[in-house]
Amino acid sequence: MEKDRLESLKREYARLLIRSGINLQQGKRLAITCPVECAEFARLCAAEAYDAGCREVLLRWRDDELTRMKYLYAEDDVFDSVNLWEKDFCDIIAEEGAGWLSIYAEDPESLKGVDPDRIRRAQISSGKALEKFRELEMRSEFPWCVCSVPTEAWAAAVFPDMEPEAAQERLWEEILAACRVTGGDTLAEWKAHSDELQKHVAIMNGYNFARLRYRNDAGTDVTVELPEGHYWAGGEEKCADGTMFSANIPTEEVFTLPKRDGVNGTLAATKPLCHNGHLIEGIRFEVKEGRIIEAHADTHEDVLIDAINVDEGASYFGEVALVPYDSPISRSGILFLNTLFDENASCHFAFGEAYPLIRGAENMTEEEFRAKGVNFSMTHVDFMIGSADLEITGITHDGEEIPVFVNGNFAF
Ligand code: ZN
Ligand code: ZN
Repeated sequence: MEKDRLESLKREYARLLIRSGINLQQGKRLAITCPVECAEFARLCAAEAYDAGCREVLLRWRDDELTRMKYLYAEDDVFDSVNLWEKDFCDIIAEEGAGWLSIYAEDPESLKGVDPDRIRRAQISSGKALEKFRELEMRSEFPWCVCSVPTEAWAAAVFPDMEPEAAQERLWEEILAACRVTGGDTLAEWKAHSDELQKHVAIMNGYNFARLRYRNDAGTDVTVELPEGHYWAGGEEKCADGTMFSANIPTEEVFTLPKRDGVNGTLAATKPLCHNGHLIEGIRFEVKEGRIIEAHADTHEDVLIDAINVDEGASYFGEVALVPYDSPISRSGILFLNTLFDENASCHFAFGEAYPLIRGAENMTEEEFRAKGVNFSMTHVDFMIGSADLEITGITHDGEEIPVFVNGNFAF
């Protein structure tokens, strides 16, 4: 792609993130988390935010190498607590309803070789410290958006045979295409895409299935009970202040939550999962009454087992999401090694915290949520189980069986 064109599409992408992702309102603040090497892109987002009337843009920089150094060389007890200012930063942003733009781009194996116990303890301490923040996030009390831009290490992992600069440029092109940033009317195209997702949401909500049954040759054979009062969501969602925002750009999924104790069978991942700086391949879960009773992986099984043991809810499920095998990201044929993209190319589940997609949720207490079968956890990790032969059957409350997915795609 010509350099000028790429630069103009990057500005358009920043506009999409601020205007549709966050839908930043006049006078609000915006927090941006961003890898340091992508500062140039953060500046494009900040410029767009100020143009939209942002009160103040606040930055939290990330760096894989510095994170890795900390895990290798910092004193051991720092992994058992979180700096108060970090917790305060997150809580203040969430409580005041400011925007949170998370530019997520990680070297998939950035923490390989690090003491796994340090990762486990850091995850638990940050999970506890950010409990309030996470709850407000899951309830859409503030507008947030996760997106990605290529870093050198990530691009090299996706396109190992290319020169670093070419790999990064190629990854830019793939990201822009996946986000429908093509030089047309980006915001209108995004809105049209979001409305398209709403059609499947409406069908799924219309059936109000009691259960879903999944099967494919990769080994997934599972039944998922859906909680009473659940609903499906997808595309734009409503923030507490009534504005609409898009929590993920790109997004191709419609999703809901399973009943906490209502999942039974085997789940076999069809794509590797990048989690905590490790690439976990060949995940298989045996599930009984909602709980993962056996977890296996071909690589970094220890990281996977730590992940489902950060707390009690981590070994239960919080999300079931439907993504057609023929979705544009899937059709690109690229393994992005980044959950934001890979989950939007594949049907997926998440273990851990559930989105409270239950009718009447605004006024419910945690006890009432639990009684409905909503899972609580400090973690929420998506993993991909979609395939070209995936069959999903919906079972209504009257026992009628309706095909939902046939050969990896929506049946309707
Ligand atoms: Zn999802
Ligand atoms: Zn998820």
